[in-house]
Amino acid sequence: MQQRILIKMNFKNNHRLKTDPARPFMSFTTVSIRSNRSVLCLIICLGLLTGACDKPQPDETLLIIDGLTMGTSYTIKINEKLIAAETKQITEGINSILNDVNQKMSTYITDSELSHINQARTSDWIMISDELYTVIKSAIEISQLTNGAFDITVGPVVNLWGFGPENRPEKVPAESDIQQALQQTGYHYLQLMASPTAIKKGRNAAYLDLSGIAKGRAVDRIANYLQQHHYSNFMVDIGGDLSAKGINKDGISWRIGIEKPVTKQRIVQRIIRLDNISMATSGDYRNYFEQNGLRYSHTIDPKTGRPITHKLASVTVLHPSTMIADALATGLLVMGPTAGYELAEKQNIAALFLIGSEKLFNERYTEAFKTYLVEQD
Ligand code: ADP
Ligand code: MG
Repeated sequence: MQQRILIKMNFKNNHRLKTDPARPFMSFTTVSIRSNRSVLCLIICLGLLTGACDKPQPDETLLIIDGLTMGTSYTIKINEKLIAAETKQITEGINSILNDVNQKMSTYITDSELSHINQARTSDWIMISDELYTVIKSAIEISQLTNGAFDITVGPVVNLWGFGPENRPEKVPAESDIQQALQQTGYHYLQLMASPTAIKKGRNAAYLDLSGIAKGRAVDRIANYLQQHHYSNFMVDIGGDLSAKGINKDGISWRIGIEKPVTKQRIVQRIIRLDNISMATSGDYRNYFEQNGLRYSHTIDPKTGRPITHKLASVTVLHPSTMIADALATGLLVMGPTAGYELAEKQNIAALFLIGSEKLFNERYTEAFKTYLVEQD
């Protein structure tokens, strides 16, 4: 049967954790309520919703809230009967979560909680919020699982290659600079304290980069918020990291098209059935620079201090937690097509690996991933 795909994912337009420094607290948000026949209302606002919608016809509604955050786009689709007041409340709630995540975890905001930690030159305990504790704790667990392939202390190397908040020229750094930046890395130097929540950086100049996990966390927080407000049919997508609950407009679980990892076109490679699960994809094909015909991606191998070079173009991970899926996708991508696949299979992780070049792809997926594949004609 021909299935309808509601969202094409992987709109990865340089989706680093980044906000416009001039407007750090504003998310650009569009709210629309659509019926089968026409768009009933379209309100564009900065920050908070200021207008009211015509009341939509029940049964035909799908609320779509979208905008820009963390250097990428986000889309939230809610498949419920809603009134205008609820729409306003949800939009405010979502904006407030996005602002909070940015203000705690962005390296692009100089006075974010994370930036304060990064600026601190101390080997003592630094008090941190529960939220940051939760995210850093998960990040360290994924580092341990992936044998250091995912590592939030890789920040100095990310910045050196020009993929951090400072806009440096896009060129390959000197080997001596790479080695110097690597001196500050290593997740095993980090120590966490649960009560009160605190961190010890271990190395004075350690610099944490949460860009590989924060989008997933933001998706989870928005999904939790919607569930707490008794919505059960929705999909939250930030830059291709997403969480889906319940059913879509067709009355079936949400469907997602996974793109072929090519830079110029957007072609669907596989359709996934998202049955109350989250999904994240990491790829080397949207955020990179080229020098002398070679592509340098924003995914860094913490062992070499260089962007990954193998033929693995993207990794998609399905997991109950978007935050874990986000970090795991980066970790498995760094590990590569063989070691990454073997780890995913051993750990029973649902993962799809697309291996190859711009023209030809081989796909490989784990046993756990099979369940979510939708047969295509
Ligand atoms: P993708 O979806 O391609 O994984 P993300 O934005 O989620 O993209 O994560 C990539 C970002 O994570 C990089 O821009 C960088 O800031 C950071 N990063 C790069 N390499 C690593 C790594 N090995 N471990 C953790 N974070 C990394
Ligand atoms: Mg990611």
